[in-house]
Amino acid sequence: MTDEAESGGSAPAANAGYDEWLDALAAEEGYALVCPEGHGSLPPRRVCPECGASDLSEEPLPAEGTVETYTVVHVPSPRFSDDAPYVTAVAQFGPVRLTGVVREVDGDGGVDVDGDAIEVGSAVEAGVGERETDGGRIVVFRPMET
Ligand SMILES: [Zn+2]
Repeated sequence: MTDEAESGGSAPAANAGYDEWLDALAAEEGYALVCPEGHGSLPPRRVCPECGASDLSEEPLPAEGTVETYTVVHVPSPRFSDDAPYVTAVAQFGPVRLTGVVREVDGDGGVDVDGDAIEVGSAVEAGVGERETDGGRIVVFRPMET
């Protein structure tokens, strides 16, 4: 158990575990916290959100997730003002759902917002990218060829 309250950024201490998780995801070592009942969650949680178990173990994330929902955002929150329009998606990776911004591997980093690149059931891989607006780190999804 490490508890790094000071990470040098403006992130509050409660996000320290999430920053470490982003580091792991960026290194392709993403993981989920899994309780004895098999419920998945993500840092900075320290207890299972489903059943309250506190003995969470780290399980590697599958390389591939499945898109459950996606949304084209034309009117973003201020932190994403320079990113719009963009596509956010929720994808299931094993025991956990991740929310991320869909990015193409090539091109200018954007995505076809008409929705051709992704649909419910699409396979995606997760990585870490930066917001155009302020450079903050975000989870990004890249569509996988199937
Ligand atoms: Zn649980």
